[in-house]
Amino acid sequence: MLDYVGLEADLDSEERLIRDTARRFVDEQVRPDIAEHFEAGTFPTEIIPEMGELGFYAPNLDGYGLPGVSETAYGLLMQELEACDSGLRSMASVQGALVMYPIHAFGSDEQKERWLPALGRGEKVGCFGLTEPEHGSNPSAMETRAEKDGDEYVLDGSKTWITNSPIADVAVVWARETSAEDSPVRGFLVETDRDGVTTNKIDEKLSLRASITGEISLQNVRVPEENRLPGVSGMKGPLSCLTQARYGIAWGAVGAARDCFEEAREYALERDQFGGPIARFQLQQDKLAEMATQITTSQLLAYRLAELKERGDLRPQHVSMAKRNNVRMARDQSRIAREMLGGNGITADYSPMRHMANLETVYTYEGTHDIHTLILGQDLTGIAAYE
Ligand SMILES: Cc1cc2nc3c(=O)[nH]c(=O)nc-3n(C[C@H](O)[C@H](O)[C@H](O)COP(=O)(O)OP(=O)(O)OC[C@H]3O[C@@H](n4cnc5c(N)ncnc54)[C@H](O)[C@@H]3O)c2cc1C
Repeated sequence: MLDYVGLEADLDSEERLIRDTARRFVDEQVRPDIAEHFEAGTFPTEIIPEMGELGFYAPNLDGYGLPGVSETAYGLLMQELEACDSGLRSMASVQGALVMYPIHAFGSDEQKERWLPALGRGEKVGCFGLTEPEHGSNPSAMETRAEKDGDEYVLDGSKTWITNSPIADVAVVWARETSAEDSPVRGFLVETDRDGVTTNKIDEKLSLRASITGEISLQNVRVPEENRLPGVSGMKGPLSCLTQARYGIAWGAVGAARDCFEEAREYALERDQFGGPIARFQLQQDKLAEMATQITTSQLLAYRLAELKERGDLRPQHVSMAKRNNVRMARDQSRIAREMLGGNGITADYSPMRHMANLETVYTYEGTHDIHTLILGQDLTGIAAYE
C-alpha cells in the first residue's frame, strides 16, 4: 500500500490496530459488494451496528464509552474507509463528527447520556441538517425557524441534501431562534418520528450513490426545550462541527486517491499491449509517478493537521487548506487512474470511476472548493470576498 515516505513507520500500536482493523473490515465486509451498492444506489445498512462495535463512530472523543484515540488514528480510520468508498466514510463522518461531536461539545448531560452511547454503538443513526434548498454555501441565511412556545419549541423549515436523513433516528437541526433577541442560530435534537417531520429520499444522484441522502421537512414540529443544545449559540455551532468533519475528509480523500493509484499500478503491470505490460511505457510511468507524488504530499498535510489538532493549534483555515487541496488532488488523480485502465476503467469492476463520481460530491459538500478558496483568501489578505 502506498506510503512512500514511510509515515506509517511512526504509528503507535493503537494507531496500527485501528488502521488494520478498518482495512480488514473494509476488505472482508464492504469491498466485495460496494460496486453493486453503488450501482443500485443503496447503502449496506447491516454494517452500521458492526461499525459501531468496531468503534468507528467518533473514536477521537472520550467518555460515554468512547475511547478517545489520537487524531492520527481517527484520520487513518477515515482514510481506510474512503479507500473503499466515500459513501462509507460519509456514514462515519456524519455520525461521528456532525452528530456525536455537537452533542459531546454542546449537549446537556441528559442529551449526552441518551444519545452518545447509542450512536457510538450504531444502534441509533443521526443526521445533520444545515443545508436548505435556497441556502447552501451561505447557511447563515437559513430560513428554518424555532419559535419558543411555553416549554417547547416549534420548528418550521426544510433542509435538503442531508446524508442519512431517511434512515436517521435523530437529526441535529440548525434553526434561527426567532423568539430570542437577534434570532441566533441554535441546534436542536429532533427525533425523526415526531409529528410534522418527513425525510424523503433523494434518488437522482450520480455521485455518492452508496450513501443515503434525503431531505428533512419540518412542519410545526414541537420539541421540548430539553432538546435544544444548550452549549452553543450562533453559526460557530454548525461551523465547528464542519471543521471536525472536514478534518476527516482531508484524510479520507487521500484514501480514495490511494485506492485509485493501487488499482492503476496493478492494472499497468498486468495489462499487456504491444508485447508487454503497459507499465513499461514512460507515459504510464509518468502518470504513476505524479499520482504517487500528489498522494504523498497530501498525506503529509493530513499528518501535520493531526499534530496541530492534537496540541490544540489547529485553525479552521488549516482544515480548509487541507480539505481543498486533498479533495482536488483525489478528484484529479482518480481521472488519471481511470484513464490508465482504458475501456475497463469506465466499468464498476474497477474502483477509479466510482471514486471519481463520488469525489464530485466530496468536492462540493462540507464547503465547496470555491468556498474554501475564499476562506483562505480572507485569511491571507484580511479581506472577505464572499459577496
Ligand atoms: C451527496 C451530498 C450529501 C450532502 N450531505 C449533507 C449533510 O449531511 N448535511 C448538510 O447540511 N448538507 C449536506 N450536503 C449539502 C452540501 O454541503 C451543499 O451542497 C454545499 O454546501 C453547496 O451548497 P449548494 O449545493 O446549495 O451550492 P451553492 O451554494 O448554490 O453553490 C453553487 C456554486 O456556486 C459557487 N458559489 C457559491 N457562493 C459563492 C461565492 N461567494 N463566490 C464564488 N462562488 C460561489 C459554489 O462554489 C458552487 O460552485 C450534501 C450534499 C451532497 C451533494
